[in-house]
Amino acid sequence: MSKRIAICPGSFDPITNGHLDIIERAAAIFDEVIVAVLENSSKAPLFDVEERLTLIRDVTTHLPNVTADAFGGLLVEYAAKREAATIVRGLRAVSDFEYELQIASINKKLNEDVETLFMMTNSQYSFLSSSIVKEVAKYGASVNELVPQQVEAALRRKYETSRQP
Ligand code: ADP
Repeated sequence: MSKRIAICPGSFDPITNGHLDIIERAAAIFDEVIVAVLENSSKAPLFDVEERLTLIRDVTTHLPNVTADAFGGLLVEYAAKREAATIVRGLRAVSDFEYELQIASINKKLNEDVETLFMMTNSQYSFLSSSIVKEVAKYGASVNELVPQQVEAALRRKYETSRQP
């Protein structure tokens, strides 16, 4: 049987414990999981793509079937190129649902062989997003329980540098 490969796409600016929870759960189900960082997103990122990939790799070393990669263009084309038949997305609040339904529907139209699978957030992370983490870290508060320790250190470095006169 061919390998079951899943893609966890997103901005990961930066990766949080909420992301990691979804990645770990996907890694327990699929043979291979590719964490795919979207390039050229319209959002102005805090971390560049290489920094985001390095952080993802640093915090997934305990998951041998997880790799990180960057992609541009259409996700379904990237999925086909990587021979991944499944896109895994996390769902937090109801507010995620409408947007995710739109994206999943258009992706299905573009390539009906690629399935989108949703995983409910772990309730402990239902409020957690990269934006919240950046907001908290920017004002010097602790993000200790929200992100892995390597990410906390990277955020500290980023904001310390930006606070230099
Ligand atoms: P995007 O900009 O594509 O939404 P994100 O990096 O914000 O990218 O999120 C990537 C994926 O991780 C999305 O499927 C998102 O729903 C999921 N995700 C983000 N935060 C959490 C969380 N706290 N719990 C569960 N899933 C999450």
